[in-house]
Amino acid sequence: MHKDIIKTVSNNELSSTDLEFIFHPCTQMKDHETLPIIPISRGEGVYLYDFEGNKYIDAISSWWVNLFGHCNAYISSEIKKQLDTLEHVLLAGFTHQPAVELAHRLVDITPNGLDRVFYADNGSSAVEVALKMSYHYHLNRGEKRDIFLSLTNSYHGETIGALSVGAVELYKETYKSMLIKNIQTPVPKSRDSKDTTEALNKLEKILQESGNQISAMIVEPLVQGAGAMHIYSPEYLKGARELTKAYGIHLIADEIMTGFGRTGTMFACEQADISPDMMTLSKGLTGGYLPLSVVMLTNDIYNAFYCDYGDNKSFLHSHSYTGNPLACRAALATLDIFEKDNVINRNREKSEYILKSVKRLENLKIVSNIRQCGMITAFDIVGFQPSERIGLQVYRYGLDNGVLLRPLGNTIYFMPPYIIEKSEIDKMIDTAYEAVKRIEEGRISY
Ligand SMILES: *Cc1c(COP(=O)(O)O)cnc(C)c1O
Repeated sequence: MHKDIIKTVSNNELSSTDLEFIFHPCTQMKDHETLPIIPISRGEGVYLYDFEGNKYIDAISSWWVNLFGHCNAYISSEIKKQLDTLEHVLLAGFTHQPAVELAHRLVDITPNGLDRVFYADNGSSAVEVALKMSYHYHLNRGEKRDIFLSLTNSYHGETIGALSVGAVELYKETYKSMLIKNIQTPVPKSRDSKDTTEALNKLEKILQESGNQISAMIVEPLVQGAGAMHIYSPEYLKGARELTKAYGIHLIADEIMTGFGRTGTMFACEQADISPDMMTLSKGLTGGYLPLSVVMLTNDIYNAFYCDYGDNKSFLHSHSYTGNPLACRAALATLDIFEKDNVINRNREKSEYILKSVKRLENLKIVSNIRQCGMITAFDIVGFQPSERIGLQVYRYGLDNGVLLRPLGNTIYFMPPYIIEKSEIDKMIDTAYEAVKRIEEGRISY
C-alpha cells in the first residue's frame, strides 16, 4: 500500500487517492466533485509542475509565503547543511546557533524598541502569543484588561484567539459564541486623508469610552490581506500609535503577510515610521520553506514577566516545534538573499512594471479599484453576486492557462515571488486579462 502511493505518478491517480484521505484547508470538499485537485510534482522558480508536464506560475506565492521561488538553490543548500548538523532540539533550557543568530538579526532589522524575540511555529500561534502576552502583561501590573481591539475587515488567523480579533465574517460567524472579547473600529475606507481622519476619530471615541478595559490593538499595517487586499494610509498607523500610547494600550503590528518586503519596505511599519509594542512575523520569514513564526517585543513587555518563579508572573506558553533549527536556517538564508541581492530596491522596478501592465485592465467595464502597495497588486470584478463565484471562474481559467491565481471573493490579486521576470509578469497579467474579458463577454462557463 505504502509503496503503491509512492509509485503513483499520474495526476489522476494522485488526485483520487488524495480525495480518499485528505480533508483540505479552507475548502468545501464537495466542490472537488467537479473541481479538479492539482497534484504538484515539483517546483522551480515561479513555476509549479504537475505530473503531466503542465506548469503553473505561482502568482500568489503559495498563500503569500514564497519570496525567492520554489526550490531556491541557496536556501535549499543552507537547509541541507543544517539537516546534517541539527534537525531539532527543544528551546526550553536549550538553544542553538540558528535561533540565536536569527533573533539577533531580526532585532537589528525591525523597528526600534523591538529588542526581544519569542519563537512560535505558525502565524496564528504568533497572534495567540501576542494576545496572551498583552493580557498577562497588564495583569502582572495589577490591571485586568480583557478586551482586544482590531480593525473591521481584518484577518489574523483562524485559531480561536486569532479568529476573535479578525473580522472576516465568513470565517468568524459560526464560532461567535466561542470567541474572546473583542471590538472592531472601522478601518479607513481608502487612502484619502478625509477617510483617515474619520477612522482616527472613531478610534479615539472607542478609546475614550473603553480604553481602560482594552489590552491591545492589533492591526495589519497598510494592507489587509484576507480582507481582499484593502489598502489604507500610513497616517492612520501614526495616529493609532499615538492614541494607543496615550491610553496605555499595546499596539500589535501583525506583519505576518506584510513583512519581508511585500509592501515595498522590509516592514510596513517603516512607511509610517512607527514602532509597535509587538510585531508578529511568519509567512515570508522562511522564504516559504518551513513553518516558523516570531513575536518581536519590547524590553518593557519582557521585563513584566521577569521575576522569581514563585511569583506566578511567568509566561508559560510553548509549542513543540518552537524555533525549529531547520526553519531558523531557512529564515537566515532568506535574510542573506535580501542583503546580497538588494531585493527591496529591485522590487520597486518590478512593482512599477506590474502596475503599468495591470492598468491595461482599466478598459474592461467590470474591472474596478485597481490598487497596489509594493509587491501586492489587486483589482475587483464588479456587477456580480457572491453566489456567482466569479473568482472561482478566474481561478479555473488561470489553471487551464498555466497561472495559479486564487481570488478572494471577487478580488483578483497578484502577489508573485520576488524573482518573477518580466515575461512571466506578462503571462500572469495577460491570463487574468483574458479571464476577465471572457467573463465580461459571457464567454466563460465552468
Ligand atoms: C496568514 C495570516 C495569519 C495566520 O497565519 P497562519 O500561519 O496561516 O496561521 C495571521 N495574520 C495575517 C495578517 C495573515 O496574513
